[in-house]
Amino acid sequence: MKHSAFISEGQWYKGNLHSHTTCSDGIMTPEACIQAYKEKGYSFLALTDHNLFTAYPDACSKDFLVLPATERNTSCFPGSYEQIHVVGLKKQDIRDKISQPLSLTFTEEGTEKDWQALLDEMHAAGQLSIIAHPVWTRMSIEKLLTLKDYLGIEIYNTTCDRTSYTGKSDYIIDCCLRKGKKFFLFATDDCHEGEPDMFGGWITVKAPVLTHADLMEHICKGSFYASTGPEIYDFGIDDDQVVYVECSPCVSVNFITYEKRGHSIVGKNLTSGSFHLSGTETFVRCECVDAGGKIAYTNPIFLK
Ligand SMILES: [Zn+2]
Ligand SMILES: [Zn+2]
Repeated sequence: MKHSAFISEGQWYKGNLHSHTTCSDGIMTPEACIQAYKEKGYSFLALTDHNLFTAYPDACSKDFLVLPATERNTSCFPGSYEQIHVVGLKKQDIRDKISQPLSLTFTEEGTEKDWQALLDEMHAAGQLSIIAHPVWTRMSIEKLLTLKDYLGIEIYNTTCDRTSYTGKSDYIIDCCLRKGKKFFLFATDDCHEGEPDMFGGWITVKAPVLTHADLMEHICKGSFYASTGPEIYDFGIDDDQVVYVECSPCVSVNFITYEKRGHSIVGKNLTSGSFHLSGTETFVRCECVDAGGKIAYTNPIFLK
C-alpha cells in the first residue's frame, strides 16, 4: 500500500508566498502585483512587505486569495552581513484591510537570541514562519541549528538567484535535516522589480478547496511541493519501504537521504522513479530536474 505525502482527494493550487510592493521596496503597487499573478493563473499570493503586516480581503475571491502576511528581519549579526529574514503568514483569515507597521520589539542587535525572539514574536502573533533566503542572508549552519518553531526554509528564491546567485539553499537545508531538524521546503519569488523576478519559484498545494483555512491547514500538513518548473503528481513510501515519485517529464529524479547517500535516476522523459530505502534513513526527499535545469522539490518525509 502506498502512503502519499499529499492528501488523497483535492485540487492543486499554485501560489507565491513572498513578494514586495510599493508599500516597502518593490516597484509594483499591490494592485498591479495581485493582477500579474492572477493573470498568470496563480491561485494565491502573499504580499510580504518588509516589517509591515498587510491584508487585502477585497482582492480575494473564490478563485484567488491574497494571504495576510509580512517579512520580518533583524539587523546584521555584529561584524558581518549575517542576519535573519522571515516570511510570516497569518494562520487566521483577516477580514479587515490592514497596513500596519510592525515595531521591532526585539533588540535588533542580531544575536542568536534575537533571531529566536523574532520567531517567537511571530508565533505569538499567530503567524507561520518561513526562514527566507538563508544563503543571501549569510546565515551560518551553526546558528540556524539553534532555531526552533519555524514551519519551513526557502530552498529557492527567484530574486536572490537572479541578482547574486544566492537563491538556492539545498546544502544548508540538508545539513539541518541531517541534524534532525524537521521543517518544510518552499520556493518563492521575493519579487521586488516586477517581471524579471516573477513566476520563477512557487509552491503547489493539494487541498480540498481554495479557502484560507484549507490552504493554511494543508501547508501546515506538508501537502505541497516547491518548484521552479516541473510538476509533481505524487510522492510517498509504500509498505515495502520503497519511496516513489511521479512527475512531469524530467532528466533526473534524485532521492536525497541521510544516511545512506540516496539515489539518482538519469534518463530522458522520466515521469516516475522509485528507490528502496535501507531502513536506516532519518529522512528522504526528492528533487526532479527537467531538461532546462528547472527543479521540483518534494518536502522531506521524516522516517524516525
Ligand atoms: Zn528578505
Ligand atoms: Zn523579501
